[in-house]
Amino acid sequence: MKYDVIIGLEIHAELKTKSKMFCACDNNADGKEPNTAVCPICLGHPGTLPTPNKRAIEWTILTGLALNCRVNSLSKFDRKNYFYPDLPKNYQLSQYDLPLVYDGYLEIDGVKIKITRIHLEEDTGKLAHPAGKNYSLVDFNRASTPLMEMVTEPVIPDAATAKKFCQTYQQILRYLNISNADMEKGEMRCEANISLQNPGKWQYEPGDGTSGTGGLIKPIGNYKLSSKVELKNINSFRALEKAINYEIKRQEKMLADGKKISQETRGWNENKSETVHQRTKETSADYRYFPDPDIPPLKIDGQWIEGIKALLIELPPAKKKRFQEQYNLSAYDAEILVSDKHLADFTEKVISELRAWIDACGDEWERQKNKLAKITANWLISELFKHLNDKNGGRSIKNIKITPENMAELIALIYQDKINSSAGQQILEVMYERGGDPTDIMQEMGLEQMDNEAELENIIKEILEKNKTQAEEYKGGKIAVLQYLVGQVMAATKGKANPKTVQNIIKKLLS
Ligand SMILES: [Zn+2]
Repeated sequence: MKYDVIIGLEIHAELKTKSKMFCACDNNADGKEPNTAVCPICLGHPGTLPTPNKRAIEWTILTGLALNCRVNSLSKFDRKNYFYPDLPKNYQLSQYDLPLVYDGYLEIDGVKIKITRIHLEEDTGKLAHPAGKNYSLVDFNRASTPLMEMVTEPVIPDAATAKKFCQTYQQILRYLNISNADMEKGEMRCEANISLQNPGKWQYEPGDGTSGTGGLIKPIGNYKLSSKVELKNINSFRALEKAINYEIKRQEKMLADGKKISQETRGWNENKSETVHQRTKETSADYRYFPDPDIPPLKIDGQWIEGIKALLIELPPAKKKRFQEQYNLSAYDAEILVSDKHLADFTEKVISELRAWIDACGDEWERQKNKLAKITANWLISELFKHLNDKNGGRSIKNIKITPENMAELIALIYQDKINSSAGQQILEVMYERGGDPTDIMQEMGLEQMDNEAELENIIKEILEKNKTQAEEYKGGKIAVLQYLVGQVMAATKGKANPKTVQNIIKKLLS
């Protein structure tokens, strides 16, 4: 039996504001002693009053504008009531029926994934359970960190699309510079709601931005629905994809066995690669939401929105399209190059340096840009990435010693055949280690490509003298021997000969 898979996502992201959501405490408690970035407000002492963080509100509206959302002209904060030891107030300040923004979309591979709403709330503290002890510890440094929650409609058809949605969303938050969005550190948490339906036996009813979890999947006729299961505890994109696929298989098997799927929250166990029951999912009625009486409703006028709009920059999906159009890069190359803003900026600076160089030579940029952009993409993606991703010496592109000017010069040396690719790799390694001008490094290391035909011809004649058998074989029609002979010349020149020139000379001498 084949089912329709229906996935909705809820993504929480911690905003990197200076202070917390409702008090002046330091919002960056990384490396601080537990319970030192706290005050009576975020500890929920009686009689304290919360003051909303204006920047966190603006950043949430900014994210909404980036995702084509509508902004509510009136918004408010509500109390979500529940008891848990990491929640000092016994309620979480969140937003219920008037989120800051609603009704947007994010385009993934040409398909618009509808976004129900984005709202702002506060994070909880952190519990620790020391091994072998009969008590737990709580650290409230994280309590009341601004937490932005984005909810999609249940319209995602498979795990791969869900993963790509989360990756693109992370890139956007990083481009906007409002969250580090590191999943391993819990700065971004992706939860997926999954249900399976009989093909054609359901219809989708869009949400209006007010319910907590987006639109509804409604049965047609009296067909019984499979309830949605919520997946939590996912700390990487890879785990998200694996967890969703595991859950689809689990539900398929249950339905095949005639079992009923009940609404529940399941966690992902990375070691066992399976989802496990955590709790029966609460409905929003269980939380007894009501407006927070201490925070007046927020009026968001057009002027304020225009001011926030001015902060919008070109985001990865648009940048990818432009890279493909402007530099004729493949979708694959463009997607990698825009995945990080610093990498995208670096790439554009390198290409603009190359353009300045071509212009200075009095040559035509339009005629050569595609080839130069392709070489640039290759050298960044395959060669520079090797160093950036190296386990020992790897660093972020933001902190590398190679300037765009020097990288462009290296590309120019390769483009002009002044060095071959193995020499280029050696020079890049030195540039990565200590920076510097690639032409200087080339001369210092004696890596300039040998392209002088007369000089090469003498060396090749010697090689052919030493390899008479192979030379005769080639003459007799065994073409494959050519590579062997080129290899001998490359060895004799310590890799500096231009292989194309060598090949031509051998062919000429043996014809
Ligand atoms: Zn505080």
